[in-house]
Amino acid sequence: MDEPTPAARRPPLEGRYVPTPDGPNVDFYRHARSGRLHLQHCAACGRHQHPPRYRCPACGSADLSWEPVAGTGAVHSWTVTHRPVDLVWATVAPYATVVVALAEGPRLVGAWEGELDDLRLDLPVTVDVEPAGDEFAFLWFRPA
Ligand SMILES: [Zn+2]
Repeated sequence: MDEPTPAARRPPLEGRYVPTPDGPNVDFYRHARSGRLHLQHCAACGRHQHPPRYRCPACGSADLSWEPVAGTGAVHSWTVTHRPVDLVWATVAPYATVVVALAEGPRLVGAWEGELDDLRLDLPVTVDVEPAGDEFAFLWFRPA
């Protein structure tokens, strides 16, 4: 089945639903809005983690800090949406949401900015951060 390929993968920011982060996600998005992806890093065991938590799931330490990371990784999984609930996203459907295994280890969910036909398992990708609203940022992945 041939699907139309949208010229641009990003729907207009105006009218797009923008979540309000809470808990440890507030800091994740505050750092991301700087334009560079940051992950929590555990000083006790050296592990990066995502999603953000109050303690390290590997060793239980609360000695966590935010560190800038490369923003690169590989496609772990994806899904393609053909009929979105949000009408703004319908302007770019079909579109893909990807799960990326970051170079530092954790997996992160984001929107796919490349062509749908390019999606492959383990495809090297890079992230682009798009600030939206006062507290949030959309994460866009594309081929590296
Ligand atoms: Zn730890």
